[in-house]
Amino acid sequence: MHTQTRLPRKLPDHAPALAMAGVVIAILFFERRRPARKLSRPLARRIGRNIALGALSMGAAGLLESPLARRLARSVVKGRSGLVQQIPLPHWARDLLAVAAMDYTIYLWHVATHRIPFLWRFHLVHHLDRELDSTTALRFHFAEIIVSVPYRLLQVRVIGTSERALLLWQRLFFMSVLFHHSNLRLPDTLERRLELLLTTPRMHRIHHSDEVQDTNSNWSSGLSIWDRLHGTLRARAPDDSIRIGAPNLRVEDGNYRYRRH
Ligand SMILES: [Zn+2]
Repeated sequence: MHTQTRLPRKLPDHAPALAMAGVVIAILFFERRRPARKLSRPLARRIGRNIALGALSMGAAGLLESPLARRLARSVVKGRSGLVQQIPLPHWARDLLAVAAMDYTIYLWHVATHRIPFLWRFHLVHHLDRELDSTTALRFHFAEIIVSVPYRLLQVRVIGTSERALLLWQRLFFMSVLFHHSNLRLPDTLERRLELLLTTPRMHRIHHSDEVQDTNSNWSSGLSIWDRLHGTLRARAPDDSIRIGAPNLRVEDGNYRYRRH
C-alpha cells in the first residue's frame, strides 16, 4: 500500500529542530569570529529592521504557505499525482528527487522575482539591505511570501512532493539561505570546493552587488548546479570590491533612494 502521510518516528520529534538550532548558532558565531567583510553601518537599527521584516514574513509563511502546502502534499501522495510519484523508486529516492526539483523550481522563481516588475517590487526589499549577514536572510517583504503561495502549491502539485520531502526541503532551504547570506569567511579552498555543489556566501554576495550584471547572476538558493546549467554563474574576485545593494540605488541628499532608471 502506498502511504506516506506520517513522518518516520525513529528520531525524536525535536531532533531536526535541535540540528537546525545548532547550524544557526554555528553560523551566527563564526560570522562574527571570521567575518568576510567589515560591516560599517549602524548594526542595531539594521538588524532590528531585518528581524521585524523576518517576523512578519515568517508569520505569513507559517499561517498561510505551510498549512496549504502540507495539506496539498498529503493529497498528492494519496492520489499518486505529480511527476515523482509516477517513478518506480523507493519512497526515499522519490523524496530526494522532489527536494532537488523544489530547489530547481525555486531557482526559476528567484529569476521571476527579478524579471517581473510586480514581483521585483517586493523582492527589492530584500536587496535594499546595504550590508549582508545572516539577518539579511530574514529580510523579506511579507507580500513576497504571500504572492509565492500559488507558486509553491504549483511546485508541490506538479513535482508530486510528499509532506516528508516538503519538510526536508523547507529545513534545508532555511539553513542554506542563512548560510549563503552570512558574513562568514570560509577558507578559500573550502569555499571553492563547496561552490561546485552549493550556493556559498561569496557566490551569493555577487548576487547582492549593486552592479546589474552581478545581480542578474547566481540565482541558486541551494544547489549551485542550476546556475551552471543556465550559464548564470558569475565568479568575481576579490569580492571586497563589491558594493552591496540593488542596481539603481543611489545616494541623493545623503539618503539612499531607488530609481528604476
Ligand atoms: Zn535576488
